[in-house]
Amino acid sequence: MIVSMRKDCTEKDVERVIATITEAGLGHGILHGSERTIIGVHGDITLIAPGRIRELPGVEDIVRISKPYKRAAQVVTPAGVLYDQVSIGDAVVGGGKPVVIAGPCSVESETQIFESAHQVKEAGADALRGGVWKYRSSPYSGWEGIGSGGTNNLEAGLKLIVRAAKEVELPVVVEVLSIDSVSLYEDCSVDALQIGEPNSRNTALLNRLRETPLPVIHKRGNSVDVEAFLLWAERMMVDGKRNIILCERGILSANNYTRNTLDIGGIAALRHNLTSLPIVVDASHGTGIRDLVLPATLAGIVAGAAGALVEVHPNPLIAKSDGKQSLFIEQFRGLVEAVHEAAAMTRSLENYHLRSAEFESHYTQRMEEDRKRFFNGQLAGKNN
Ligand code: PEP
Ligand code: MN
Repeated sequence: MIVSMRKDCTEKDVERVIATITEAGLGHGILHGSERTIIGVHGDITLIAPGRIRELPGVEDIVRISKPYKRAAQVVTPAGVLYDQVSIGDAVVGGGKPVVIAGPCSVESETQIFESAHQVKEAGADALRGGVWKYRSSPYSGWEGIGSGGTNNLEAGLKLIVRAAKEVELPVVVEVLSIDSVSLYEDCSVDALQIGEPNSRNTALLNRLRETPLPVIHKRGNSVDVEAFLLWAERMMVDGKRNIILCERGILSANNYTRNTLDIGGIAALRHNLTSLPIVVDASHGTGIRDLVLPATLAGIVAGAAGALVEVHPNPLIAKSDGKQSLFIEQFRGLVEAVHEAAAMTRSLENYHLRSAEFESHYTQRMEEDRKRFFNGQLAGKNN
């Protein structure tokens, strides 16, 4: 981290900044330039909140050099990027084979969830999903999930989907809404917890999840930048937790036709530049339109997602939530096959993905000569 002092700062201001850095157990180096003083800070800069330095008198700006999300950041070795694998029961997300997590938006009845479980299993899904207690945008929707209205209902709903999943031998993923219910999900043998979009930045809930041994599928908030998303995921990782799967489910944009805007470039950035954590794509919430789920899911796989989260309903036309985006089972069967083909194709296209670093030294050496050839030797303009 670099602290740039204002031109008019005093010796006392510089001393105060250094004292604050030293108190936090960090080292420093000072550069007294002709214009201004610059202080370089080294060590584990997570030991100090940037705001504590920024607010000191005489400080003009601070620039972070290392990533604030140390644990969620990509682990790179000379041999290449090391990617995490996260198990949900027997399904390994990031293990090479794409993982498809599917089921209805919400658990609606015993018949509906058992039928869903059988259908998605037969179609080739790797895990069953279903919301038991739902977030709804309107308080008048009349449906907040079979598990809403108290702990007894929540427990009964969780037991129902867990039983359905066990019957077809699939692991089960359920969204958790509150800190108080995390242990109930664990006791009911849910295999993975989902953090939904509205809770993407719920500090207390993410802090609580540091302690759960269960894998967490963390959905990106609809107005959260990809790096900010990693900092929210980092919150669960500070004591060593690593079994986290990131989920891109669409963000807000100028586009109103689809329910959200699935950020395909964001998936590529997470996978190729920013993190070692596996990513899944949720084109159901990303598009909100049944007929767009397949192409948008495939785009996510090609961009680097290790799997997909898909809403499927035995009859989407009577679903109590998200029916418009839920697939008919016939469509889902095709999606599973297509996801496997897209993953195989993505692997075979990897050889075309040539990193810029491989070419930079060659083109750097040519800069002088190319400037002469292209611009008649004039150093016109700056490189961008
Ligand atoms: C869901 O998965 O059913 C859901 C409500 O997703 P999101 O939180 O991404 O809207
Ligand atoms: Mn839904």
